[in-house]
Amino acid sequence: MLSFFSKQRIRGGVHAEEHKAATAALTIVTSFPLPKKLYIPLQQHVGKPAEPLIRVGDKVLKGQLLAYSQGMISAPVHAPSSGIVIDVNDYPAPHPSALPIRMIVLETDGKDEWIEAQAVADPFLLTPEDISLRVGAAGIVGLGGATFPTAVKLNMGRENHIDTLIINGSECEPYLSCDDRLMQERAGQIIDGVRLMLHGMDTENAVVAIEDNKPQAFLSMQAAALPYPLIKVIQIPTRYPMGWDRQLIRYVTGKEVPVGCRSSEIGVTIHNVGTAYAVHNALRHGQPLVSRVITVSGGAVARPMNVEVPLGTLISELFSFCQVDSELTARIIMGGPMMGDALPQTGLPTVKATSGVLALTQNELKSDQEQPCIRCASCVSVCPAGLRPLDMANNIRINQLDVAVDLGLKDCISCGCCSYICPSNIPLVQYFKYASGEVAARQQAQHKSEQTKRLIDARNARMERIAQQQREEELARIAAKAERERLKAEQEMAV
Ligand code: SF4
Ligand code: SF4
Repeated sequence: MLSFFSKQRIRGGVHAEEHKAATAALTIVTSFPLPKKLYIPLQQHVGKPAEPLIRVGDKVLKGQLLAYSQGMISAPVHAPSSGIVIDVNDYPAPHPSALPIRMIVLETDGKDEWIEAQAVADPFLLTPEDISLRVGAAGIVGLGGATFPTAVKLNMGRENHIDTLIINGSECEPYLSCDDRLMQERAGQIIDGVRLMLHGMDTENAVVAIEDNKPQAFLSMQAAALPYPLIKVIQIPTRYPMGWDRQLIRYVTGKEVPVGCRSSEIGVTIHNVGTAYAVHNALRHGQPLVSRVITVSGGAVARPMNVEVPLGTLISELFSFCQVDSELTARIIMGGPMMGDALPQTGLPTVKATSGVLALTQNELKSDQEQPCIRCASCVSVCPAGLRPLDMANNIRINQLDVAVDLGLKDCISCGCCSYICPSNIPLVQYFKYASGEVAARQQAQHKSEQTKRLIDARNARMERIAQQQREEELARIAAKAERERLKAEQEMAV
C-alpha cells in the first residue's frame, strides 16, 4: 500500500498489461548456439562511433579490442567471439529506418576462445579513477537502453559528489524480464558491481529499486545486499514508466531534477542492474561487454525465453532458436512495446541496448482505427512529463512545430502512455517522434547553413585580405618604379 507521501511522488503513468509471466519464471538460457557470423556496429552507444583498429583478414580472440573509443563521449567495441574479420562495411542498422551504418563482420571459428584476461586481484585497491578507466576500456554503457558510456557517468559522479546511487531494477516495460531474471540468478554479482561503482564514484550510499511485481528478484537482491548496510534494496510500485530516471529519482529521493540539468547535479545518479553486472564482469574477471541477456517474447514466439547471446547476433537467428512463427508475426519490436522500435526485418543485429526482441501478433497490437479526439484529457493525466499531448498533436498536425516545441515537445520522453490510454486510438507518440525528428533535422539544417555562411564569410574576408595585399604590393611597385625613374632622371641631370 502506498503512503500518501509516496503517491504524491508518482506523476502520471499507466498500468500496462504485463505479459511477463511467459519468460520471468524461466532460468536464463545460456546454451545459445554460437552464430557463424556476428555483425558488430561501431555505434552502439551515445556519442562518437568507435574507430576500427583491425583489418579484414585479421584473426581475433573473444574480448579483443576491435574498435577504440573516440573523444570524451564514446565507447570501444570488442570481439564477441573468436574468429576472422571478414568485412568492415555498411549494413542495415537495428533501427526502424534500417539505414546502413558501419559494422565489423566477424566469422566465428567455433572455439569461442577468450583473450588473456586483464583482471585485478582486488579491484577495491584501485583508485576510483582507475575503476572508471577499466569500466571505459571494457566498453560498458547503460544497459537499460540509454547506452550512455558508464565511465563518463562515474566520472561525473565523482566530480559532482554524488550522495545516492540508484540502481534501476524497475524494468517497467511490459513483456521484458531480462533484468528480473538477472536479479534472481546473479544477485551477488550485481551487488558486487554496485559496490565497485560506489568505489568508482567515491561515495557510499546506494538504493536498489525494484518494482513490486518481482518478489523473487527483490528477495534475492535483499539477501545479497544484507552484508552491506549502505546498500538498501526497496520495492517500488509497479507502474509504467517508473524506470524513467526523473520519475525514479523523485520517488526514491523526493528530489526533482530541474529541466535542462543532469541528475548528478542534484547529487543523484542512476545505473541499470545489467550495467552493475557488466561492471562486476569487467573488474573481477577482466571481461569486456561482449554479450547480454535478451528477452525474446510475444504471441508469435513458441519458446519465449531470456537468453544470453553474443552481441552482433542477428535477430533472425534469435527467432529461429525461439521458434518464432513468421506468419503470425504482425510486428517485430526491439525493446519493449511502449518505447521500443518497430523493425522492418530480422536481418539486423542485436546490440548493447537490446533488452528484448518481440514478435507480436495482430491481436497484441492496438487497433489502428483512429477516431476523432473526444477531449477526455486522459492523455494529459497520464503524461509523466506533465505535458498536454492533445495540444501538441493538434499543432503538429497543422505543421506548427514551433508551437509544439513551446508546449514542451523537447521534454517528451516518447514513453507512449498517452497513445496507450487514448480511447480514440490516436497515435500521439508517433506524432511526437515524427515532430522531434523534424525539429532536429531543421535545427541541423539551420546549423549547417549557418556554418556554410560562416565559411563563405571567412573565404570572402580572406579574398579581400589577399586583394588588399595585392593592391598594396602594386602601389609599392609603382612607387618603387617612380623612385627609380626619379633617381635616374637626377643622375642624367647631373651628367
Ligand atoms: S486521450 Fe485521446 S481522445 Fe482523450 S483528449 Fe487525449 S487525444 Fe483526445
Ligand atoms: S509520449 Fe510524451 S506526451 Fe505522451 S505521455 Fe509520454 S512524455 Fe507525455
